[in-house]
Amino acid sequence: MRERGVYGETIPPTPAQTPVAWTTFMTGNNPGNHGIFSFALRRKGTYERDIIRPDMIRSNTLPRILNDAGRKVAMINIPMTDTDKVNGFIVPGFMSLKQGIAYPPSVKEKIHRKFGIERILGDLEVETLERVQSDPDLFFEKVDELTDQMAEVSLWLSQEEPWDFFMVVFMGLDRVQHFFWEYIDATHRFHKVGKYGDLAKRCYRRFDKIVSDFTRSLEDDTTVIVLSDHGFCPVHTELILNDYLEDKGFLTGVSGKVDVEKSQAISYGYGDIWLNLKGREPAGLIGAGEEYEATRTKIVQYLSGLSVNGEKAVKDVKRREDLWCGGYLSDAPDLTAIFKVGFQAARRPELSGKDAPTRHTNDNPRWSGGHDGTHDPEDVPGTITMSGPGIRRGKRVRLNMWDLAPTILKLMKIDSVNRMDGKPLDLLERTA
Ligand SMILES: [Zn+2]
Repeated sequence: MRERGVYGETIPPTPAQTPVAWTTFMTGNNPGNHGIFSFALRRKGTYERDIIRPDMIRSNTLPRILNDAGRKVAMINIPMTDTDKVNGFIVPGFMSLKQGIAYPPSVKEKIHRKFGIERILGDLEVETLERVQSDPDLFFEKVDELTDQMAEVSLWLSQEEPWDFFMVVFMGLDRVQHFFWEYIDATHRFHKVGKYGDLAKRCYRRFDKIVSDFTRSLEDDTTVIVLSDHGFCPVHTELILNDYLEDKGFLTGVSGKVDVEKSQAISYGYGDIWLNLKGREPAGLIGAGEEYEATRTKIVQYLSGLSVNGEKAVKDVKRREDLWCGGYLSDAPDLTAIFKVGFQAARRPELSGKDAPTRHTNDNPRWSGGHDGTHDPEDVPGTITMSGPGIRRGKRVRLNMWDLAPTILKLMKIDSVNRMDGKPLDLLERTA
């Protein structure tokens, strides 16, 4: 792929979380303009959070734009897609309740007739994910099953159905890398050599084969893009942000639980920090304007200095307007802590309930690799190769996830009326 086209890195948005990154890909916009900032969105006027769904995307998407331009779309298992009525078909992906069920029904029936399945497996089942530690071999078996089924069905669909734009996402490698990164990355503090490293390598080889099978099956004039929405970095320690906020009096805990009404600030997991703002939260404590700014500054200064066993754990703490821009900025967390490689935020809005010195951190996280909780996108870049008619060869590229949609539209010679944050990449050979 490198010899045949351009290759390099994709820079995910902040946070480099799967639904945020793929939404950024599909809209060509930064989260401030598409409204997806995390796995959950604040329910306005409450302290509640709703798990995000594809219909919460506040911006036009690639499948709709292609459809409006009269192109046939085939999208399989793309996170944050749903059953959009397109000229073509969609198999909804991660974060959709209809994940794996092809739409329209005629395509679903075709798949059923050929493979005897009602839905395509888009991701590992929860039981498998919960049993990784106790049964890692079963985990790898299930990843192979998932990958093979997706490869077989999608390759068949790519030949069976007409399309102008075809795309499929495989989730298995993400799962493997979360759980076994310490076997993959030699820079991991607890790097291990052994069987699971070999099994992970076998997964990468499986994908080489899949890319090869697809590429061989295509007409010569087809442009092929292989990309990931993010990469990975080692994780050895999780920080419980709410414990830290409680230490400094920003957060009030009652018997191990966060008292949201009496707290000035709270993290819901993934490094986000929300202030309890007057006029926004039901029992707001912090005044808008000066008091809001002063509180944010205090929290930025405090969290920026956090260290674990003498090692600096936080790379930066960002105000929302420093990370994103656009009409939906007010849906974003007030602050986001960006962790250094090796560290990440502990999940869920909990306090550890422990006393010092075991408070604040979890040094045996469930995952040894991460990208999502929350890291500098530059520390967890994804990968990309792109080859096809007129595309330069052997050139190294580096592009933001929001540049992909405009680049694809340009390659397909579609003038989009949508304003996008991203810019099309200049990939074509210079013609004399
Ligand atoms: Zn992941």
